Amino acid sequence: MKKSLYLALVTSIGLGLTGCISTHALNTKIQKIEQKHNVIVKAGNPLSRCCLFGDISGLLDMIDKDLEKCPPYFKDHIGPVVIEESFADNLEIFPLSGFLRGYVYINEKQQRFPVHIKNRSLIEKVLFFAPKDEDVFLHEASHSFEFNVQAQSNAEWERFYYAFNAAQTKAYDGIFPRLLFLSVPVAGYLRPAGMASLYGASNHLEDSAETHCYLRKHNNNVEFLKKKDPVLYKKCRIAEKFVNGEYGTERQNKLAKSKS
Ligand SMILES: [Zn+2]
Repeated sequence: MKKSLYLALVTSIGLGLTGCISTHALNTKIQKIEQKHNVIVKAGNPLSRCCLFGDISGLLDMIDKDLEKCPPYFKDHIGPVVIEESFADNLEIFPLSGFLRGYVYINEKQQRFPVHIKNRSLIEKVLFFAPKDEDVFLHEASHSFEFNVQAQSNAEWERFYYAFNAAQTKAYDGIFPRLLFLSVPVAGYLRPAGMASLYGASNHLEDSAETHCYLRKHNNNVEFLKKKDPVLYKKCRIAEKFVNGEYGTERQNKLAKSKS
């Protein structure tokens, strides 16, 4: 019995270490993403490099893949991507931080509204499987984009906001869709008419982030919605204009290129 326990322990540590990534390999990977997409990526915790505590390499590949689908204007406007093992250092703002996968904080002290992403351990992935990690990054990046545009050019954001709001035909449901989404995992797959997802039915910010995610997930090919769901189709087209900078002026677009 003792021997089999020992064997199980050695095997699991061995499997965990197989996925480890060296500091050099991690830095090279980060540099590649930064240069390719003109974004800043921070992954400071050494535990990240060990597969037992979270697959940092896989998470970076996923971020790379998601950014690949996004237009340059969107990437120019998102804040630094900060990968963390826990959000426990922010308990006064997020008391239930154990359940958080990622966040962008409107009253953030750091500049450019960083995209905080949790590098989840294998245990967390087994216990809390929904929403999927790949759905979290793009959603949070969309918040960061919207906050940055609003902070840098309120007029541009307002043009988008009013167009999006005019296309949205019914009132938002507040906290209810979010509670349903968090308590019933399959609720994440529901899509009310006119909405990209149930979560988006909460308020404008969630709606615009979810609409952008929907658009990217369908590789900007949403013509099938034209007849099926004209409201969502219209919102997708408005979201696409927003992330391409079409609500801004040429001068503003040039200014945004120079990151602080
Ligand atoms: Zn959100």
